[in-house]
Amino acid sequence: MSQTSKRILVTGGAGFIGSHLCERLVAEGHDVICLDNFFTGRKENVEHLRDNANFELIRHDIVEPLLVEVDQIYNLACPASPVHYQYNAIKTVKANVLGALHVLGVAKRVKARVFQASTSEVYGDPSVHPQVETYFGNVNCNGLRACYDEGKRIAETLFCDFHRMNGVDIRIARIFNTYGPRMMEDDGRVVSNFIVQALTHQPITVYGEGQQTRSFCYVDDLVEGFIRLMGDDAPTTPVNLGNPNEMTVLELAKQIITLTESKSEIRHEPLPQDDPTRRQPDITKAKQYLGWEPKVSLADGLKMTVDYFRKRRGRSS
Ligand code: NAD
Ligand code: UDP
Repeated sequence: MSQTSKRILVTGGAGFIGSHLCERLVAEGHDVICLDNFFTGRKENVEHLRDNANFELIRHDIVEPLLVEVDQIYNLACPASPVHYQYNAIKTVKANVLGALHVLGVAKRVKARVFQASTSEVYGDPSVHPQVETYFGNVNCNGLRACYDEGKRIAETLFCDFHRMNGVDIRIARIFNTYGPRMMEDDGRVVSNFIVQALTHQPITVYGEGQQTRSFCYVDDLVEGFIRLMGDDAPTTPVNLGNPNEMTVLELAKQIITLTESKSEIRHEPLPQDDPTRRQPDITKAKQYLGWEPKVSLADGLKMTVDYFRKRRGRSS
């Protein structure tokens, strides 16, 4: 290993974002341990890394303790789509709370820098727009999304308490909607749903009137933000990472229909409980402290994602 090469644990490393992160870290010459229980992750997401001597894959559930000697930890292990995190809500809380305790325990013992994949969901259905890190949020603590939202909030609390009480070197990214290749096609998230529906000429399922907004960040941009946030001089307080390019869900549906030249029609379906009406990151802090902002346009990012789903569908048919 070179002097700058580190040993890095990525929990949830076989998932959508985790696999891109592992790829980037291996490419930079780091020794990467990818830990996953394969609930929503897939071995094939990291298949191309498995022959690399710097890459190791471990099946482990983050709700169980772990012992590992590393320099850095990225904690991503948690189902991210509403369908999957609500499938076993109690397990989602455990993955967030016990998972955070376990990685923080390791970080404290081996003096590793530890990163938490937090979320814009900590802002709930926000009354401050765009969302700044100083906003405390508007979260329903006992609704269907609470296992995830409150789980991520308590994980942030644990990170901050380990930092205050034990001097653990923490980083917290509040991630806004991210998309790209290796999203699961059946996990119910809007970008993958719409692309798969458009490619198969099925109705595009817009929930409610489709006037709720989201801001979509391409996965490579996000991973660049992660790496910068793990830098020596980065803040130990939460930092929003996302693309400020806000749009309605209906606009997204129309853009995907046009891009794929699909014959799909738009079908309105009921809005899920506690679906946030607006979401847009204020990324002033990321710009100021990390010199980071997204580079990939939605048009380019969607093209790369559509190509991925086209190839996957080609392989499976
Ligand atoms: P994903 O579901 O593809 O990845 C999560 C990974 O964690 C999967 O590989 C899954 O198998 C693994 N996992 C789940 N529970 C586990 C457990 N108990 N033990 C070990 N592994 C476990 O989702 P993603 O979109 O790649 O999200 C990665 C992280 O980023 C998550 O923590 C998520 O909350 C956060 N995040 C994602 C988004 C987004 O838009 N994609 C937005 C905000 C936050
Ligand atoms: N959505 C939709 N149709 C779908 C899937 C999602 O209209 O087939 C909407 C959903 O109600 C939400 C937005 O798209 O308003 C983003 O949903 P997603 O589950 O991707 O992420 P989150 O709600 O966690 O931001």
